[in-house]
Amino acid sequence: MAFPLIASPGPIAAISTLLQTSLRVEKDQWLSAEELAALQETRLRQMLVEAARTRYYGAALCESGITDPARFELAQIGRLPFLDRQVIALHGLESFLTVDRAGLIDVMTSGSTGTPGHFLRHKLEEADYSARWWRVYSAFGCKAWDSQINVAIVNKPDRAGPITFLRRMGVLPRIERMGSDAAPEDVLRKVRELAPPILTGYAGAIEALAEHVLATGARVPPPRAVFCTAMEVTDRCLELAEEAFQAPAVDVYVTNEFGVIAWSCPARRNVLHVNDDAFVVEVVNPDGTPVPPGTLGELVVTSLGLTSMPLIRYRMGDMAARLPETCECGRGLGLLTRVHGRTAHAIRRPSGALITTPWVTSLFGRAMAHTWVRRFQVREEPGRHLRFLVDVRRPPSEVQRHTLTEIVESSVGADFEVAIEIVDRIPVAPNGKLQFLVPLPRDEQTAA
Ligand SMILES: [Zn+2]
Repeated sequence: MAFPLIASPGPIAAISTLLQTSLRVEKDQWLSAEELAALQETRLRQMLVEAARTRYYGAALCESGITDPARFELAQIGRLPFLDRQVIALHGLESFLTVDRAGLIDVMTSGSTGTPGHFLRHKLEEADYSARWWRVYSAFGCKAWDSQINVAIVNKPDRAGPITFLRRMGVLPRIERMGSDAAPEDVLRKVRELAPPILTGYAGAIEALAEHVLATGARVPPPRAVFCTAMEVTDRCLELAEEAFQAPAVDVYVTNEFGVIAWSCPARRNVLHVNDDAFVVEVVNPDGTPVPPGTLGELVVTSLGLTSMPLIRYRMGDMAARLPETCECGRGLGLLTRVHGRTAHAIRRPSGALITTPWVTSLFGRAMAHTWVRRFQVREEPGRHLRFLVDVRRPPSEVQRHTLTEIVESSVGADFEVAIEIVDRIPVAPNGKLQFLVPLPRDEQTAA
């Protein structure tokens, strides 16, 4: 057995791991960029040594000519193959495991890109996920004993991990969960009742709640910060949340597979710090070659902490650009632009250029349409048609509607025929998230 110690961790081992991990994670964010790069290389080597024992990576490393993973260099990471859900499905989960499956917990991800994901990890690996959340919370003045309201999916069971254990024991406050499709007045009632120092949730749900607070003039006890997750977090969402709750709004780039990957710098909201101590995050072109710093590309993530089921060069489908500068806040963690949604959720112009959510939001901003638009969704349809579905807070004047139409048409009219339609309601997807852009499936795009 490879891991006799963690094969059956008791609560004491789990809590001890959590404490040690939290202290390390808290400290490591202040390492210099050079120290972090050295740490990444060490952790990458350790992870690759484990990965080499799996059926899939054993063969893949050989094929890439990597005979000694213990001496692998960070700069060579491009030699390792990309990973995605299809590759995992093709080879089977068992081909990626270094330990017996029985001791692992299931992690499912929503199928917002078409293919739901299934991953496995060890309970003790959860400690690192919790510690990275606490890094974000504590950067914004939150404490481990703070209660929180989380507006996301309610029926998602708590995963077995040390934090869950501590919550069940009553050592940590429970998380009050509300559905992202709950009526904003119900969420507001709960927020006023509990006055939680931590308010967190899907960006769309937080935005709807903030709008409700502003529209009704409700007085809300300010949380320490509002954490927006799970889909593209727009500027509009952050602005509304700060205005409504009189607290900093934080953009957290987090996925079920990896946990918190990047998060708003407390000193400047518009850039994200990458958790470089836990991941190697690359930004690549569609052909997989690296893009230069400052250029938008697809994010590719390698976890340095997952060894039960290593995830190496996993294609996220999300887009962002690396920023080369160092940060004034003193953290050595690298910087990333805000994340521009999924490549699968971007609409392609005939030139190949992408229409992304922030870009569409900027059109609405230029048209001052936020005064009357509550939510929108842009649907691509065959024959190069774009339908802008708009859920309005009040009917626009002729001038307002005309201004928006004109700005949209002058921006995409050469490539698409545009229709702006006022609808009663834009439904959230079954996974509880609002999809702003709905492109045609790839095969229909080429036919269109
Ligand atoms: Zn910073």
